[in-house]
Amino acid sequence: MLSAEDRVHPAFARLPPWVQEKLSPKAIDYIRRVHHWVETECVPAERVVKAQLAVNKWKTPPLIQELRVKAKKEGLFNLFLPKSFGDLSPGLTNLERTMNCHAPETGNIELLAKYCNEGQKQKWLLPLLNGETSSAYSMTEPDVASSDATNIACRITRDPKDPDTLVVNGRKLYGNVAWNEDLSVYILMACSDPENPDPWKRHTTIIVPKPTPGFRIVRNLTIMGYDCAPEGHGEYIYENARVPAANIILGEGRAFEIAQGRLGPGRIHHCMRLIGQTERAYELALIRATDPRKKPRGKLIGEFDSNIERIAAMRIQLDSMRLVVLNAAHTMDVHGNKSGRYAIAQSKIIVPEMAANIIDECMQMYGGQGLTQHTALPEMWMYARFVRIADGPDAAHRHQVGRDQLKTAAAIKGRHDGYAKRYEELCRTWGVEKEEFA
Ligand SMILES: Cc1cc2nc3c(=O)[nH]c(=O)nc-3n(C[C@H](O)[C@H](O)[C@H](O)COP(=O)(O)OP(=O)(O)OC[C@H]3O[C@@H](n4cnc5c(N)ncnc54)[C@H](O)[C@@H]3O)c2cc1C
Repeated sequence: MLSAEDRVHPAFARLPPWVQEKLSPKAIDYIRRVHHWVETECVPAERVVKAQLAVNKWKTPPLIQELRVKAKKEGLFNLFLPKSFGDLSPGLTNLERTMNCHAPETGNIELLAKYCNEGQKQKWLLPLLNGETSSAYSMTEPDVASSDATNIACRITRDPKDPDTLVVNGRKLYGNVAWNEDLSVYILMACSDPENPDPWKRHTTIIVPKPTPGFRIVRNLTIMGYDCAPEGHGEYIYENARVPAANIILGEGRAFEIAQGRLGPGRIHHCMRLIGQTERAYELALIRATDPRKKPRGKLIGEFDSNIERIAAMRIQLDSMRLVVLNAAHTMDVHGNKSGRYAIAQSKIIVPEMAANIIDECMQMYGGQGLTQHTALPEMWMYARFVRIADGPDAAHRHQVGRDQLKTAAAIKGRHDGYAKRYEELCRTWGVEKEEFA
């Protein structure tokens, strides 16, 4: 139970009462400590990290490495694995998880923890959990519509002379860039059985270690001009790349089970990070709105009615984004990821779009400086914008939600027919002339 003092603490104040009531003593302690950690260790470190990246783009900056060691000592590492993962988890639910861990690691770690055998876990998962290596998820292809993953065409075949070896051929877009020194594995989704009559059983997920003969990088993809170092986004060619069959995850033809298991949590993790980031953009706007050095027409920026309204709108949108994400996290905890798919889709549709709009308004209030490297606003906006496409475009999620909604029409029609019948009865009882409607 939160104390009166905790309820006004910035780490808890924005949580609705139904969430505050559900926090375990363990979660309360974690949230308090994570908040302190982010405020004192992470935010002040941002510019130093940028300076270190300028010296070596594709190496994890030394300050980040030091922070990882410190976070482990403080027991603040890998907080995202929910309770259902047993010993691997620090014991928090999705609802309680607050640490902003990075993509694609959170989704990949959940995938490996959920679907790998013991040997694979020892080899690939533990170094990731220890923060010693990093991983990439490789599904998207330049030559097909990858939002419908049944189109994925990169081919996996067995070497006829050595059936314990898989041979991979194809082109892939995205997945962190291989230049990153920490990157050790690619989790690759590819087509292993194109003739299978069930399109959901044609694909297999395998682990491709770096380096693998026949696997090569074409370039780092910039995202709206940003190189996104040190993780980056690579473009790759597989040319008769040879991978041990022991690296198949879960079994041949089971890639869709795995993709579904990965994308649910991965999607709301993006939303959680975006809320934290948008709160910071909003704080920058508040500081600028009350900056005594900035007085167009003799007034503070925050004294113009239009900006007062903007600030109110941004606050309300931020709080509504948080509610939607908390609801998705809670639904996943209570009913599982599959049943939570509507709430997850809802978050993935609403949050990136609202976050991009809010950050855009914050840049506007900040004036010319807001579009430069004087603030992190442009990079924040780029992240919000890219999440509208990464892990599935919002149009595809809307399509799925809309299709599911249309399926409810028949039951709704049944209810409305019932109203009409009752209306006729009431007309007869009360001697009211029945009106005709379409
Ligand atoms: C920054 C960034 C990071 C990424 N990281 C990764 C990664 O780590 N690994 C990885 O494999 N991929 C990654 N992706 C790729 C991303 O998952 C794909 O781009 C996405 O799934 C869409 O696939 P596509 O690009 O082939 O677009 P397409 O499938 O060709 O879709 C193009 C457009 O068509 C429209 N559309 C698609 N489906 C529907 C629908 N059902 N209803 C209405 N309109 C629709 C949408 O407007 C959509 O944007 C990343 C993307 C970005 C931008």
